[in-house]
Amino acid sequence: MGTFLLSWQKDVFIELRRSWPFFLDRVFELCYAEALFVACLSIQMYWNSGWCFECHRFFTPAQAPVSRHGKPRRKAKRRAAMAATDSPSLLGLKPSFGFGDRLGVATPGHILACRKGHMLPVFAQQSARELARTQRTPDEVMRCAQNALRQHNWTGAWGADADHLRTQEDVEYFAAAGFTFFTIDPSAYVNNAAGHLNHMALQLALDELCRAGAFASVLEIESLYMNRSFDLPGSGLLAFTDRELLLRTAVKYGLAIAYAQQMAAWIAGAAATHEIELSVDETDTPTSPLEHLFIALELRRRNIRVVSLAPRFLGDFEKGVDYKGRLEPFEAALRLHVAIARQFGPYKISVHSGSDKFRIYPIIGRVCGDLLHVKTAGTSYLEALRVLARVRPALFLELIEFSRARYDKDRASYHVSANLSDARPPGGLNPQDREQEYLDMPAGRQILHVTFGAALTAGRTHGAQPFKEAILETLAAHADLHNEVLARHLGRHLELLSAG
Ligand SMILES: [Zn+2]
Repeated sequence: MGTFLLSWQKDVFIELRRSWPFFLDRVFELCYAEALFVACLSIQMYWNSGWCFECHRFFTPAQAPVSRHGKPRRKAKRRAAMAATDSPSLLGLKPSFGFGDRLGVATPGHILACRKGHMLPVFAQQSARELARTQRTPDEVMRCAQNALRQHNWTGAWGADADHLRTQEDVEYFAAAGFTFFTIDPSAYVNNAAGHLNHMALQLALDELCRAGAFASVLEIESLYMNRSFDLPGSGLLAFTDRELLLRTAVKYGLAIAYAQQMAAWIAGAAATHEIELSVDETDTPTSPLEHLFIALELRRRNIRVVSLAPRFLGDFEKGVDYKGRLEPFEAALRLHVAIARQFGPYKISVHSGSDKFRIYPIIGRVCGDLLHVKTAGTSYLEALRVLARVRPALFLELIEFSRARYDKDRASYHVSANLSDARPPGGLNPQDREQEYLDMPAGRQILHVTFGAALTAGRTHGAQPFKEAILETLAAHADLHNEVLARHLGRHLELLSAG
């Protein structure tokens, strides 16, 4: 060794041999430090890198500052979970309740209300007709609901109902905004005169039905249904034994069901995730159980899957007021409707104009059980006006006067019976009596109920401020009262439906 090493190198070597254990210790310490460093780096990598659910790509810490959505993996996961409640979902055969919100600020109150009872909420619900009347867009309806749900940390399932759709344009308009529940309204194709056509007119109507392709021939209708009986467990048999009645039923609903089939195809094309309701509630006469059976069998034959069906029920479902009619026949017919829905769906029975029908909620809840969907809308607008009545009585008076001036024109397309003379003129009433006359009595409620479109679009205060702006301003300033009146009123709906 001496021949190869210089003296200082020898000194270093000797020193290394002497301090070898100490040298090894240093090496191990360095290794531990390195291992710790690598571990920390890995944790850092895990924390700051991952799959971005919005960019749909993996990103690293170096990319994070330039990634538009780049967020730590955990945050991305949290956001994905949030997105799940941020978007409407399918509610299927669970009992559900639609909260229409024409002003776009009622969802917080609806959230409070739906804690009562056990029905799943539909927080975004607007019909194509309401959209036109309020000059809103499906996007706006959806955004208002979503913003409120985000602010109130809603984490449950909720639905979005594109209500009373009549055309392909309606379907595509709502589908583009993310709606998932599509209510087909084929009422333009329902032949309301079918029940009293003379024989010649009935034959012409049948010819037209077959020419339009709804059925191949009258013989086909007969061979499908004539003299066939259908067992409804617990409710007996329903049978098509009257040939003329069968043909009148086919004339009444045949074209409408064929059109519903066309609309269902449009819906499937426009929305990958969807559920469908068929509404035949806006016909001139109540849907008889036999007519419902015909519709259910035709839906099945044409492979149209619906999650709910809205018949027109016995009695009067006028806007904004309680049910008018006898309870026993209503319950008996409802039992048959539910039995048909259970046996030939299953699908839910949908109750339209479902606001304020307190007399029959326990019956509806008891008879329908889980196969129930209820829609409300105008009643939330009236509760918003209750806030006005209490905190800005002069504005409420102006609105009543505007609505009274519009009522006779606007009532035409609604099922209401009140006349202007049925409600006392508002000028001579004190604020409490005015609230009671126009928000608790049937005539006053109907006058305000059906004029919402004009009030929210064309209506202006004496100071030329749009009513909509004045109402929204008032509701924003008294949000607690607004939420409270909504929660109380809609909560009562849900409690009674669940109490049945
Ligand atoms: Zn309806």
